Amino acid sequence: MSTVLHLGGFERVAPGCQRAVVPSPWPPRAVAVFLLESDGEWLVDTGASTLESIGAVRSALDSVLGPRGVPRGLILTHSHLDHAGGVEALRPVTVVAHRDAAAAFRADEWTPEDISFREVEGSADSLPDVGGWEWMLGEGHAPGHLLLWQPESGTVLVGDQFLLGLKTPLRTADETEDSFGRYLATIDRVAAVEPRIMFSSHTEPIVEPLKWLAHERRRLERQLGRTRNAVRAGARTAEEVTAAAYRSIPGAGARELLAREQLAALRHLAFQDAIKRRVTDGLEIFEAP
Ligand SMILES: [Zn+2]
Repeated sequence: MSTVLHLGGFERVAPGCQRAVVPSPWPPRAVAVFLLESDGEWLVDTGASTLESIGAVRSALDSVLGPRGVPRGLILTHSHLDHAGGVEALRPVTVVAHRDAAAAFRADEWTPEDISFREVEGSADSLPDVGGWEWMLGEGHAPGHLLLWQPESGTVLVGDQFLLGLKTPLRTADETEDSFGRYLATIDRVAAVEPRIMFSSHTEPIVEPLKWLAHERRRLERQLGRTRNAVRAGARTAEEVTAAAYRSIPGAGARELLAREQLAALRHLAFQDAIKRRVTDGLEIFEAP
């Protein structure tokens, strides 16, 4: 059964927190935006830049804030286009983002130049001007990905960091980043605050977060084990390891995601000196020590 969110206007999902789901041009075709009601209304993410998406966000906002009502500010979970593409059209007064997400946003060529960010730094803190809410850094998927957390209700808005029934793509663009290790560390960071419910940006909420996080951690640890065994048995590239570790993979999209996760797992093992890594003619080769 699909866990992907269905489109719809704002509805309350937690105390002082509403969620709307708007269309996205990219899979899985729907993305959530949230409205935090604390010291004014704060929009979390904008959806994509398409007319269809902007229109859906606008009418969702109108129904809560009145015609052309403007939230006090915008908080971006991360800079990916399905979450931040609408910044230019919505023209918020204040945009709160992690320093690394703001840098990624600016580095993108499509980005409007005159957006000024209110940047937060580090790995966790209270959310400026939004009483009752804090943020934690989510790592491995996107630079400076914020997870928003309301301690009193145990609610965490996890963005793309954790998705129910879908794999979160790990970053592989930067070979010096241990995205697999950082993703594991984020699982531990979030589990430590003992959340009671996690709202994802694309999928139904995760209602037993501690169980889910523990399960995700075990899955990734098993994958590391399989990966190490495959390298010991002679597989040398991410593709060879994927072929050795999984007999059949349904569909090209799933295969690509898996290959990315596999490459991130191989690099993680190399960062830990469990295997050796070298680059030959642009190809990453992994070997047993
Ligand atoms: Zn996304």
